[in-house]
Amino acid sequence: MIPAQFDYVAPGTLDEALSALAEAGEDAKVLAGGQSLLPVLRMRLNVPSLVVDLGRIEALRGVRDDGDAIVIGAMTRHIDVLTDPLVREHAALLSEAVGHVADPQVRHRGTFGGALAHADPAGDLGAPTLAVGASFEVAGPNGTRTVDADDFFEDLFTTAVQDGEILTEVRIPKHTGWGAHYEKFVRVAHQWPIVAVAAAVKVEGATISEARVGLTNMGLTPLRARSVEAALVGQPATDETVRVAAASAAEGTSPPSDLNGEADYRRHLATVLTRRAVLAAAGV
Ligand SMILES: Cc1cc2nc3c(=O)[nH]c(=O)nc-3n(C[C@H](O)[C@H](O)[C@H](O)COP(=O)(O)OP(=O)(O)OC[C@H]3O[C@@H](n4cnc5c(N)ncnc54)[C@H](O)[C@@H]3O)c2cc1C
Repeated sequence: MIPAQFDYVAPGTLDEALSALAEAGEDAKVLAGGQSLLPVLRMRLNVPSLVVDLGRIEALRGVRDDGDAIVIGAMTRHIDVLTDPLVREHAALLSEAVGHVADPQVRHRGTFGGALAHADPAGDLGAPTLAVGASFEVAGPNGTRTVDADDFFEDLFTTAVQDGEILTEVRIPKHTGWGAHYEKFVRVAHQWPIVAVAAAVKVEGATISEARVGLTNMGLTPLRARSVEAALVGQPATDETVRVAAASAAEGTSPPSDLNGEADYRRHLATVLTRRAVLAAAGV
């Protein structure tokens, strides 16, 4: 289908983009890589009066070192996150997860911030941002605010980014020396995950000193598997510890039932994939 008619602007600065959004009101839509927005427009699920293309705002692109954190610009394409040495060294979990997003074609157009702002519950990047304790910079007419990952994903396709606001960058505390693994379960290559698990684990001596686990597609938003995290910390990094901890992975989740699997099947998958992800992250 062909989208309904809309006005289009491609500003060169963040301030210009925010002004364009403010002028158009809630009828405006931000365009990043277009990989999710364009199908939505073509199906006329959304009919904006104005599309504000962020593609010319260079300040929103790239990865930088910021002391104890790395910062990923919202308009950084998936492929550039995947190949970035800073991300690989300090946020290996994200480096690995972004390699699971779609296929090379989508990864060359889609953006890190676009995927997170879109907040598809099956998206591969939400759970890893929870697991690394990321924070999100959101710019709006009244300035910039910071939102922790735990507060960013509010509901189905809904984040803390309000009408008139733009996600500008994602800040990730350096996880240098942590083990990390993203375990994604699909039936065919390049599919959205049926369930996936993101694990970041720090092992000191033979003991798990810190553990963060995020779940993909186990509810309307990405979720933390807090009971698993609590069961791991302070325990020896052994197969038995991880098996016992992973058994509670589905606690507090409400996974969907669809053609790829019933909710009960997903609950079972969550325990199996959590065990695999944590074992790999802990190097057991
Ligand atoms: C065939 C196909 C397969 C895919 N498979 C997967 C997969 O397996 N795993 C996965 O995780 N993803 C998958 N995706 C989605 C992919 O990750 C997209 O890149 C992503 O969903 C949207 O990113 P984008 O940059 O294209 O954003 P757009 O499509 O341009 O925008 C998406 C939404 O976010 C909003 N938005 C974008 N940027 C900002 C911003 N900076 N501030 C505020 N709002 C913003 C837009 O207004 C829009 O509502 C797939 C996509 C396709 C087309």
